[in-house]
Amino acid sequence: MDINGPRYTSYPTADRFHAGFGEADYLQALADCAAAPVPDSGRLAPLSLYVHVPFCENICYYCGCNKIITKDHRRSARYVDYLAREMALVARQLGTRREVMQSHWGGGTPTFLDPAEMRSVMDALHRHFDLLPDGEHSIEIDPRRIGDAQMALLAELGFNRISLGVQDFDAEVQRAIHRVQSLAETQAVVDAARRLGFHSVSMDLIYGLPHQTTARFAATVEQVLAMRPDRLSVYSYAHLPHVFKPQRRIDESALPAPAEKLDILVGTIGQLTAAGYVYIGMDHFARPDDALAVAQREGRLQRNFQGYSTHAGYDQLGFGVSSIGAVAGRYVQNARTLDDYYGALDQGTLPVMRGFAMRGEDHLRREVIGALMCNGVLDVAAVEARHGIDFAAHFADELVELSRLAGEGLVRCEPGRIAVTPLGRLLVRRLAMVFDSYLREDARRAAAGGHAVAAGTGRGGQGADTGTPEAVPLRYSRVV
Ligand code: SF4
Repeated sequence: MDINGPRYTSYPTADRFHAGFGEADYLQALADCAAAPVPDSGRLAPLSLYVHVPFCENICYYCGCNKIITKDHRRSARYVDYLAREMALVARQLGTRREVMQSHWGGGTPTFLDPAEMRSVMDALHRHFDLLPDGEHSIEIDPRRIGDAQMALLAELGFNRISLGVQDFDAEVQRAIHRVQSLAETQAVVDAARRLGFHSVSMDLIYGLPHQTTARFAATVEQVLAMRPDRLSVYSYAHLPHVFKPQRRIDESALPAPAEKLDILVGTIGQLTAAGYVYIGMDHFARPDDALAVAQREGRLQRNFQGYSTHAGYDQLGFGVSSIGAVAGRYVQNARTLDDYYGALDQGTLPVMRGFAMRGEDHLRREVIGALMCNGVLDVAAVEARHGIDFAAHFADELVELSRLAGEGLVRCEPGRIAVTPLGRLLVRRLAMVFDSYLREDARRAAAGGHAVAAGTGRGGQGADTGTPEAVPLRYSRVV
């Protein structure tokens, strides 16, 4: 079975955002956000924030993130200044100092910023927002670019979660992807995080990289398990050198064959679950006491641009070049180049590049896709009651396709509920795609002789430091 599918960190996916959505639309979304108290409480809901820092000192050949490779640290000084300007503009629209339950700095490499620049960004955030001390405040770290002093600074600034890019500890793999990072460097960051009282350490691995084999990757997973991260993301490498130029430097003949790649994934899932980790879904694992695992057990797990989240229901503000926000039923993405980003802010306008205003049908489908991907089960009656629909009539075509996938063992269609099987969890984006009306429309057009839009080409530059874009092909030559 071959799958080309979005990762559904949003629905509709980022490739559906369009330039017809501009600054005026974002301003209206912010006004709506400012005027929408939580029902029955009169209080405004807390927010979630994303801050994008695009700079990296070295290129990792597999990378598909929106980043700028430079060793010139003067570039970040200017960027920090503009981030503060953007925050001030957005906060002015919101009127009051809003509480923030979740914040995340991603990249690029956020730790490219020097200590003074980090303080400056955090000061700007505190000037305009109330970052709740009991919230989740996380940052992506490149273990090659951080020492004990900078780790202590992160703790002092209020970060309580870190996410580390690891990818693979095998020396030959590291050389082939141009990311040489020792076990000791990674261990030092983990030790510092534990010493400093960070609540959670998350690590990213990538399978499908050159020279990887099932046995070699298993050795990396063993080394990672010895560090007992709270969360693990194991991403599939998508080799798309025509889309991501740095990937041209990867030797295609050294990539594992599709069958081996699948074996690596299946072996990794076995290793991690045997070590006590809960398979959250897609590419995410967590210790049973981690907030993600608890949220999944309680049926309140959600997805946002950082992947699985316990706070995805809050409006999310995106700051920085190419960042994506989700505010009052609209998605908004910032300019992708520094020139465009700086240019808009120089004129006192928000640097909106594109966005999307969701319709009622989008909300319905987002809920269905979210339930399948996050909790592995859909309560049909609850969806019918919330959206005033007859599920069987509304999704007649989708249910035909779903019953075919039920025949392949991916899902069980039971009275009143749709349940994802263990095999379906591995291929859950295939199930989500059934309910993606935009993909269905593309397929209809293609069948009628029009041009289909490639599925899942959205890239927000948001998410963990993995180089894996928001939407990538996931290819299986066979299913277990
Ligand atoms: S993988 Fe991360 S550190 Fe490497 S180039 Fe991409 S954004 Fe930078």
